[in-house]
Amino acid sequence: MKQISASEKSQGNKIGFVPTMGFLHAGHLSLVRESVCQTDCTVSSVFVNSAQFAPHEDFEDYPRDLQKDLDLLEEAGTDYAFIPKAKQMYPDGYKTYIEVHELQERLCGQTRPHFFQGVCTVVLKLFNIVAPDLAFFGQKDAQQSIILKRMVRDLDLDVQIEVLPIIRDKDGLALSSRNFYFNKRQRQAALCLSRSLRLAQKKITAGEIDAAQVLQTIRAEIEAEPQARIDYAEIVDTNDLLPRETIHKGDLIALAVFIGKVRLIDNLIVD
Ligand code: AMP
Repeated sequence: MKQISASEKSQGNKIGFVPTMGFLHAGHLSLVRESVCQTDCTVSSVFVNSAQFAPHEDFEDYPRDLQKDLDLLEEAGTDYAFIPKAKQMYPDGYKTYIEVHELQERLCGQTRPHFFQGVCTVVLKLFNIVAPDLAFFGQKDAQQSIILKRMVRDLDLDVQIEVLPIIRDKDGLALSSRNFYFNKRQRQAALCLSRSLRLAQKKITAGEIDAAQVLQTIRAEIEAEPQARIDYAEIVDTNDLLPRETIHKGDLIALAVFIGKVRLIDNLIVD
């Protein structure tokens, strides 16, 4: 991969990179298509990163279908699919991890304390190997892109991060590889996340700026769904991810909700 990347660069080609954990859907492919538009050469990686899963989480069960992923990546215009092996990324004696303090402890970090350390470590390694000019991430993982941007700035990395909108199903459910786990009833229940965010935006548009009031609306909507259990619902400043009392334009409304055993996230930037 390093040789390919060096060779593309020597021909003056700008490299775009889309890191994924596979089991691809239209959300991932929107990132690939944007990279194809903005760069000369698109690299997509598929790597289920053990470092970002806690022992009790779904690393073993995480859905995988590499052949289908390769077909979809090719169809969307990816030039190179990078599929490293776990042993290549984390050889015996691996000891180095990246942390973005404070930001990694907020929102998802409360229930997944090692998650962003795992994400930042693998993304930095992938950046070092692929050496992209641009890297494409989804707004779906809002905290992830905020943390990665901070890592890039703090470590003076020569890569520009592009964050692209959340792709949703027609009924509003944000696409996620984990939606695959759901039966029909659970999938229906999962709609409470996007529904609560739409209600929140409506309330804010009507003039509500008290974060507690808006959060109450969100919570009531989700709690009305018997299969849903809120992990967190917060309205935060995107700079420090700390809760707001008064809502400002550009704030992040972020949710994590369990539907059965499956934990979903969704979010909205206040318009
Ligand atoms: P994952 O395979 O879940 O690690 O996701 C890989 C990339 O795809 C990340 O940058 C995600 O934010 C992005 N992504 C996942 N779901 C969506 C979605 N529904 N819309 C847009 N981007 C997404």
